[in-house]
Amino acid sequence: MDIDVSGIPVTVSTGRLPAPADVDEAIVAAAARALPHTEGAVADCIPTLARADPGSFGVALAEVGGEVHEWGDSRLEFSIQSVSKAFVYALVCQELGHRAVHDRVGVNNTGLPFNSLMALELNGGHPGNPMVNAGALVTTSLVPGATPARQWDRVRRCLGAFCGRELDVDEATYRAESRTNGRNRAIAELLASYGHIEGDPVAVADVYTRQCSLAVTTRDLAVMGATLADGGINPVTGERVVDPGVCRDTLAVLASTGLYERSGEWLFEIGLPGKSGVSGSILTVSPGKAGIAAFSPRLDAVGNSVRAQRVTAHLSRSLGLDVFASATARPTTAPPTTARPTDEESHDQH
Ligand code: GLN
Repeated sequence: MDIDVSGIPVTVSTGRLPAPADVDEAIVAAAARALPHTEGAVADCIPTLARADPGSFGVALAEVGGEVHEWGDSRLEFSIQSVSKAFVYALVCQELGHRAVHDRVGVNNTGLPFNSLMALELNGGHPGNPMVNAGALVTTSLVPGATPARQWDRVRRCLGAFCGRELDVDEATYRAESRTNGRNRAIAELLASYGHIEGDPVAVADVYTRQCSLAVTTRDLAVMGATLADGGINPVTGERVVDPGVCRDTLAVLASTGLYERSGEWLFEIGLPGKSGVSGSILTVSPGKAGIAAFSPRLDAVGNSVRAQRVTAHLSRSLGLDVFASATARPTTAPPTTARPTDEESHDQH
């Protein structure tokens, strides 16, 4: 889709968020502009997602100082889906280190849909990056734990620490996806055939399906994002979840791969790392400032929430979050230090 940012003035980053009242005002304005957009369709790849209320819409922004701003259906629960990939990746980076995860999972965009088997074949069996299903399955297989049950417990506790509360599985979604995830099981089997998954690929796909089924709210996602924005300390609970270097690595990967094959367009319009999930959520991180989450189930053709993209584009601009937007440091009224010769003068010198 075209992320329409026309008429939203770009505010240059000051290194800090605007005052809380200005943040609230910006959220209301961004939501009002995105609300009329009812194009797109609710996901039908998992039967429980197809039953989501297409009109629901929540926004939350969690500051690194711990203040959380919420709008609309910010407390409505949905399954975390692909957004979980970012946090399981952080967990594995914390345990295995930067180089090992880079070599096993990769960091480059595949340019193909998130559940592509072809991407795997084209890459000689290498998963490409941790934000597509192949890479996420490898990441999940690397979670420490002697059994799949122990690995799952580790995933659930770690994601809970990121959002500051114990998380439970949405059982209906887990059961529905378990019945329909033949494609993910096939990807896991293919990865195992290339030697990229050790152990039972079906068990890995099961832990991955459970992690995608964890029930979260828009508020939870914002706090999870704020933990990545705050060098790994959850700003609401004060708990250190991962190290600052792990946050940096996770955000760098999200910047190039978080919005599937539209990651380039996302970075061009929003200028921030983000991750979308097929339930209709997008989590965006402004390093050193905030986690921003938006949820609305209608998706565009590649699986990104239409309203969530729009509301985030607005907030990135109006709150001065775009990491690529800068103003010149030199005062614009100062005369140039050396006068450049006119065309005629420079011609005369030759
Ligand atoms: N559980 C979904 C899958 O594996 C997640 C996809 C998504 O959110 N993009 O297919």
